[in-house]
Amino acid sequence: MLLKDKVAVITGGAGINGLGFSTARMMASQGARVVILDLTQADPAAAAARLGEGHLGLVADVTDKSSCDAAAAAVLEKFGRIDILVNNAGITQPVKFLDITGKDYDRILDVSLRGTLYMSQAALPAMRKQRSGAIVCISSVSAQRGGGILGGPHYSAAKAGVLGLARAMAREFGAEGIRVNCVTPGLISTDINKNILSAEKKAEIAETIPLGRLGGPDDVAGVCVFLASDLSQYCTGITLDVNGGMLIH
Ligand code: NAD
Repeated sequence: MLLKDKVAVITGGAGINGLGFSTARMMASQGARVVILDLTQADPAAAAARLGEGHLGLVADVTDKSSCDAAAAAVLEKFGRIDILVNNAGITQPVKFLDITGKDYDRILDVSLRGTLYMSQAALPAMRKQRSGAIVCISSVSAQRGGGILGGPHYSAAKAGVLGLARAMAREFGAEGIRVNCVTPGLISTDINKNILSAEKKAEIAETIPLGRLGGPDDVAGVCVFLASDLSQYCTGITLDVNGGMLIH
């Protein structure tokens, strides 16, 4: 078991077809006690119940600092520590550069970027006390390519911002035993793109990917488990591409 008795908090983890829930399931199967955070309508308690006994689901909006702080306090009250944080919550919007409104910009950046800031700020004090912790931030291939698949330019900017924020955290907290790393998934079949990309478009994209297929949530979950576990104990500030070779150049 790679994560025996570790306490793992995953934001945006309630969607059962999503990367977050897949990561929750894989972390639980590796011995972690998992806390799923998500919005009320996503029903995080029901998602956590699907993992079996000993896990927790809490409503938390990552764009709201007091909500993040309350979630971290509830985790500490129940489990006494936070070993792993996966900043996974994110939303996207397919829109062209000139059409992005201020409201769109705030909405998209707030979940991925502000959310990564607030939830990390909420979890870090406990990790500092423990003098250990692993934070995994979910960015996107969109940050590296400038979008082009389904996210708009503001999504690319949010996910590129996540890379910078994560590296800065890695630099600041490394001496206290806290590692911070990023994952940049390529195109992964989840609810985020279900109604945006047609089957034909997906097949077309798959032909351009060296591994010849779109990713699945477990492809990303395995990498999150690696970055959360001691297997990656000398890795911090890194970005792992999980995209089937889409970016080979
Ligand atoms: P998803 O829609 O299943 O998951 C996103 C989750 O975030 C949902 O459960 C949603 O309820 C939650 N969420 C939204 N706003 C929130 C908020 N304010 N507070 C807390 N939770 C909130 O989609 P997914 O594909 O599993 O996405 C997970 C992450 O992976 C996202 O950050 C996404 O940008 C990123 N990503 C996805 C892909 C892909 O192709 N699917 C590729 C690259 C990156």
